[in-house]
Amino acid sequence: MARPKKHRRISCDPNSYYFKPAGVSLNHLEEIILEGDELEAIRLSDLMNLSQEEAALQMNISRPTFGRIVNKARAKIADGIINGKAIKISDELSSELKEKLQFSCPNCGLKLRIKKRRQLSHCPKCSE
Ligand SMILES: [Zn+2]
Repeated sequence: MARPKKHRRISCDPNSYYFKPAGVSLNHLEEIILEGDELEAIRLSDLMNLSQEEAALQMNISRPTFGRIVNKARAKIADGIINGKAIKISDELSSELKEKLQFSCPNCGLKLRIKKRRQLSHCPKCSE
């Protein structure tokens, strides 16, 4: 069965998903996982120079949540560059966002937690 297309508000599609310091074998490297939403936060904030309000709106999250995500992302990138660690970009969402994801049916009011940020195409209870 085909996986349903994800409708997440993460629009960046980086050219590379792995960055490592040159000349160091991978076995000797510590790896940092940069979550997809953290990368998106960096892109909106630092590449496109959006305000935190605008960027939060784009990602469909609150401004304080955006602030936490972007701070975490910057700390990880700084750690990678300064301490010579590999940076791997994950296409998973951070646990923080996962917790917030919920499906709620406008027809029968069914509420479900969903694991990934994707829209359910119809309600499992009433099929609307
Ligand atoms: Zn329903």
